[in-house]
Amino acid sequence: MIRRNTNQRQIVYDAISFLGHTTTDELINYINEKELDVSLATIYRNLTILLDENQIKKVKIGDLEVYESVKDKHYHFECKKCKKIIDVLPKDVKLDSSHINKIYNMDVLDFDMVFYGLCPECANKN
Ligand SMILES: [Zn+2]
Ligand SMILES: [Zn+2]
Repeated sequence: MIRRNTNQRQIVYDAISFLGHTTTDELINYINEKELDVSLATIYRNLTILLDENQIKKVKIGDLEVYESVKDKHYHFECKKCKKIIDVLPKDVKLDSSHINKIYNMDVLDFDMVFYGLCPECANKN
């Protein structure tokens, strides 16, 4: 029984890793299309467990709530046209929050960002 649960959790985790960023609906569709033997209830239960174990996280990008496997710190880019989500590495973003600390007298420890625009494929179509 434990073995079976572990395998199903692995299936859910692998699906999320493969999809990169996925809504619950996309994840369910993917698992159904692959005819993997995981019930809806099991998918939801394993999402909760994987979140608790800090193996995946839920991120809000625009209007979407998506799951992704836990990776190094990064930001997101959402294509306004095809809704594709692309990871943006902090080293590629020049941003300095030290002046915020000064002006607002706060101690900023972390921040999150979403960039919006057109992905290379959509930009080329214009
Ligand atoms: Zn696009
Ligand atoms: Zn990401």
